[in-house]
Amino acid sequence: MKLLRDTFLEINLDNLIYNIKSIRNMVGEDVGIAAVVKANGYGHGANGIAKDLMENGADYLAVATLTEALDLRRNFQEYPILIMGFTPDRFLEYIVKEDLTQTIFSYNQAKILNDYGIEYNKKPVVHIKYDTGFNRLGFRDFDESINQIEKICKLSNLNVEGIFSHLALTNKEEDEKQYNKLKRVISELEKRGITFKYEHIEDSISAVDYPEFRMNMIRPGAIIYGIKGFHYGSLDIKQVLKFKTKIYNIRKINKGEGVSYDYLWKAERDSIIGTMPFGYADGYPRNLRNKGYVVVRGQKAPIIGIICMDQCMVDLTDIEEVSEGDEAIIYDDGTNGSLDIHNAALLAETNKNEIISRIGMRVPRVYIRDGEIVDIIDYIG
Ligand SMILES: *Cc1c(COP(=O)(O)O)cnc(C)c1O
Repeated sequence: MKLLRDTFLEINLDNLIYNIKSIRNMVGEDVGIAAVVKANGYGHGANGIAKDLMENGADYLAVATLTEALDLRRNFQEYPILIMGFTPDRFLEYIVKEDLTQTIFSYNQAKILNDYGIEYNKKPVVHIKYDTGFNRLGFRDFDESINQIEKICKLSNLNVEGIFSHLALTNKEEDEKQYNKLKRVISELEKRGITFKYEHIEDSISAVDYPEFRMNMIRPGAIIYGIKGFHYGSLDIKQVLKFKTKIYNIRKINKGEGVSYDYLWKAERDSIIGTMPFGYADGYPRNLRNKGYVVVRGQKAPIIGIICMDQCMVDLTDIEEVSEGDEAIIYDDGTNGSLDIHNAALLAETNKNEIISRIGMRVPRVYIRDGEIVDIIDYIG
């Protein structure tokens, strides 16, 4: 286990476990948890965290794409994996071969899966997506949908395990309307003798804010990673990731000299500049120029000049006894003056999930348990 790069993401598995247990504690034993690990586990490395999630409260893993599901399946043969996105017809055979759970919203796809099921002597598992207003994916028209779903449920070789929708999080009134639309479909289907093992509509924010819409499964992503976006409820969670690097070079420049492309930053005094080995290709927002900072020796070092693809520069003039090789904290949970994900998102004018999910594959993930490194995933190392 060699770490080949000084810019890396530290993943605190104790915090991850703390969070999933906290979520389990919040929902009780009767609500399933589909832990959302799409986008490489929101940057945390899906394969590095799946086991701890499943062994500490999660019932299901949820991803967006077939490729993400296949990647997890290679490492974990037993875990149920839900693909929440659409999979084109030509790839549906993989769903059956690899025992994945597919979201569907057409009879046609149900029939294709059913027929592969017969061929492979398996009962493919699906969750029905019903669109309650988001207008992204799912069945729409009530009467038409009921008939189609009923037809799907009558297929001989398909396990229609779940039905779900997704909230737009517009406001409580609108969210409640969406919830009621899903409930109405479920109760109409019930009248026709159709029931589901799992019914779900809530993501992280809604699962915390609206306990009354939890049904019997939730799909939390952000809160697993300690990212707080909720407004009304409360949940005790801890940020899981820490983004670190080291100062590679320190140089003294004279007042009036420029730094980086276009000399957009110019020294107003004789300055000490540190060169850092991370840039926007590592997922650091390029628009944090003049706004972002790293923490070196417990002090803030502002990022100056245009952020390059692979490097950026910081002003170290006010930091005492700084030297090459010093650690620099890019993101942490806000302790010791660090930039937390919430504030990074505010500064970059984006949301927290974008900040973490875009941390690049060039950044090794270093897994920590009880303060010790237990695993390193280096995608290109
Ligand atoms: C990403 C996603 C989630 C999880 O969202 P968070 O806000 O991170 O909790 C849940 N459901 C669906 C359909 C998603 O795409």
